[in-house]
Amino acid sequence: MSSPESLQIPADLLPRDGRFGSGPSKVRAAQVEALARDARDFLGTSHRQATVRSKVGEIRDGLTSLFSLPEGYEVLLGNGGSTCFWDAASFHLVQRKSEHLSFGEFSSKFAAVTAAAPHLEDPVVISSEPGRHPLVEARDDVDAYALTHNETSTGVMMPITRPAGDGLVLVDATSGAGALPVDPRQFDCYYFAPQKSFASDGGLWLALCSPAAVERIEAIAASGRWTPAFFDLKVALDNSRLNQTYNTPALATLHLLASQITWFNENGGLSFSAGRSARSAEILYAWADASDFARPFVENPEMRSAVVGTIDFAPEVDASVVASVLRRHGVLDTEPYRKLGRNQLRIAMFPAVDPEDVAALCASINWVVGNL
Ligand SMILES: *Cc1c(COP(=O)(O)O)cnc(C)c1O
Repeated sequence: MSSPESLQIPADLLPRDGRFGSGPSKVRAAQVEALARDARDFLGTSHRQATVRSKVGEIRDGLTSLFSLPEGYEVLLGNGGSTCFWDAASFHLVQRKSEHLSFGEFSSKFAAVTAAAPHLEDPVVISSEPGRHPLVEARDDVDAYALTHNETSTGVMMPITRPAGDGLVLVDATSGAGALPVDPRQFDCYYFAPQKSFASDGGLWLALCSPAAVERIEAIAASGRWTPAFFDLKVALDNSRLNQTYNTPALATLHLLASQITWFNENGGLSFSAGRSARSAEILYAWADASDFARPFVENPEMRSAVVGTIDFAPEVDASVVASVLRRHGVLDTEPYRKLGRNQLRIAMFPAVDPEDVAALCASINWVVGNL
């Protein structure tokens, strides 16, 4: 038995890369090297000129092919991240009333946005306890369904399936996009930010929009609904079609993002990227199932996220002590989501994370618990 401060995890057990955070998340060295190589002609140059615009075009084309978007779908982007996109969606994607599946911190936040919007009716909010997800209810009185592909705060994923009727399906895929399989015919707007599966930095949003979503944006804009320009999806649509953003984007973010999309596409696309996360998840949950001190927080195996794993610890093992020992060894950000308040670790398994490093992490945790 040793004190946590004196524990030294054997070097050969440790993951080669210790970044397991749920966002910002691991950026691969090859992405950083590619940025450094292009830096002199790219960083510090105008986002209205060909060099940067062609990078934005590469991102839009790359996402179209990664997600096999059907004819007519468009890739929009703008500044402000996914949180900003909720505000934008409340202006230009919800016509009158939305339905929200609320099962954690992020999904509840979008519901709060539409509930507070004076130009919208009160939303229908279907909630479930953390650790599971509710089911969508098709309704005639809503014109948009707000789903979340992966609830990052609790480690719950849900399949994306279009309900009957013609409400738009708006999916927060901030942590799911690129790491989970999805059929684009099941959504109208699949939005995310690049600091998770796309191994880039925050501050940008991207939205894959169906023709029906584009039509809704144009119709609401034409109706004259007042919208702050920063949240105006018609402005974003017009700029995106020119491979630009309304205001200045972070150029390094665009470059890192483009590299990751290319890496996915060159290696087989979404089946490659989602396959890496699925492999990592298999390793993590098999370890937790076999462990006598750890178990998956999410009871239903179908709801257990393949991209963000939440693992509860037995009361006699303090997960925060384990996280701090790991942190001292450069194994970072395994702490649980702050507001969930459980004795658990949360481990991101984005495609950039090497499945072998997840196995090494499990071995390291076993060693720490065995030696505490
Ligand atoms: C991280 C995250 C967000 C917030 O993203 P920002 O880019 O920080 O605004 C929203 N939804 C989900 C599901 C997330 O994982």
